[in-house]
Amino acid sequence: MRVVAGARTDVGRVRDMNQDAYLVSDPLFGIADGMGGHAAGDVAAETAVSTVKEMFEQAPPDRPNDLARYLREANARVYRKASEEPGLQGMGTTFTLIHVVGEQAHLGHVGDSRAYLYREGRLEQITKDHTLVQRMVDEGRIRPEEAPHHPQRNVISRALGIDDNIEVDISTLDLRDGDRLLICSDGLTSMLSDEQIATILGGGGEVEALADRLVGAANEAGGEDNITVVLLDVTNEGEGSLAPASESEDEATPPPPPPADDALVADPDDDEDDGSPGRARKWIVALVVLIILGAGAFVAARMTLANSWFVGTTETGTVAIFKGIPEDIVGLSFRDVHEESDLQADDLPSFLRSDVDEGIKVESLEEAQETIEDLKQRSEDFASPTSGKRSK
Ligand code: CA
Repeated sequence: MRVVAGARTDVGRVRDMNQDAYLVSDPLFGIADGMGGHAAGDVAAETAVSTVKEMFEQAPPDRPNDLARYLREANARVYRKASEEPGLQGMGTTFTLIHVVGEQAHLGHVGDSRAYLYREGRLEQITKDHTLVQRMVDEGRIRPEEAPHHPQRNVISRALGIDDNIEVDISTLDLRDGDRLLICSDGLTSMLSDEQIATILGGGGEVEALADRLVGAANEAGGEDNITVVLLDVTNEGEGSLAPASESEDEATPPPPPPADDALVADPDDDEDDGSPGRARKWIVALVVLIILGAGAFVAARMTLANSWFVGTTETGTVAIFKGIPEDIVGLSFRDVHEESDLQADDLPSFLRSDVDEGIKVESLEEAQETIEDLKQRSEDFASPTSGKRSK
């Protein structure tokens, strides 16, 4: 089979940095969606992509499991960088990788980026999200249609760079002439439904134009995150596949066994964080959640705590920067006060206060600090009779 590839990446309309990266190096294709404050997510994604590319060049795969080897090495390098370089703590990245060889596509996958197969007018997701909400769907705790709107939909249960160990999903797909494969970051799928994506893919046109259209549609829908798509048209016209690996690939590999456990294992001497007592308590809370939920335990407490910030109100009514998430998961909170401000929630005008009480999610500590400054400024503006009164 021959593949024609088109790729696009776009910062979107809200973020000021693009932390997605993609890999188009026929017959290897992939997407990494980095996460972490400042440039860290970017470093994680780029490190993972360059590692996979390098591994492939050094030792092309001769069986699907080699993709897992590449991703484990990418995990090790991102993890090492994250633990060694102070500004990069807690960074991580998703990775969805496709290797086209002969009549098959092998997939390696970690995180919440996705691969889809568009065949004969039907779109089918061929990777499984490693997210908290996917877990909840699997366990019957929420209905599938609730997942896209669930407040914890962005909480990832697996990512490269978070632990020195990583479990990779490996699967194999038999290709047909005319298949279209889409790899994308969640900046696409959080903005567009599968139906909307299918409509665009069915609209005809070359892969480059379709990739543009997908990104454009996600931006029109809000562009709340970085958007990256890699589109592959599979054809057996003009055979002469570039695939270097042997054509005598084993018979179709069975789908991977369900992942044994996404649960995060508390690392007792975890030193990648600030080591505050709050963190230890959080781990205990996470463990309690695991126990409550039993073997199918989930909870990406680690990603959540390492990468999430919000501005909210403490129990004593002080506006503060929190590490974690404002929402509770199964009745438990996953947040610590990182830094209290000198602002009292009572001093805020009511339209700001309700936002703060709910928790204003931000991307980084710096953004949290800016948000507090902005709240102070807006409160002053609002209180001052000489300045223009702001309405919501
Ligand atoms: Ca993303």
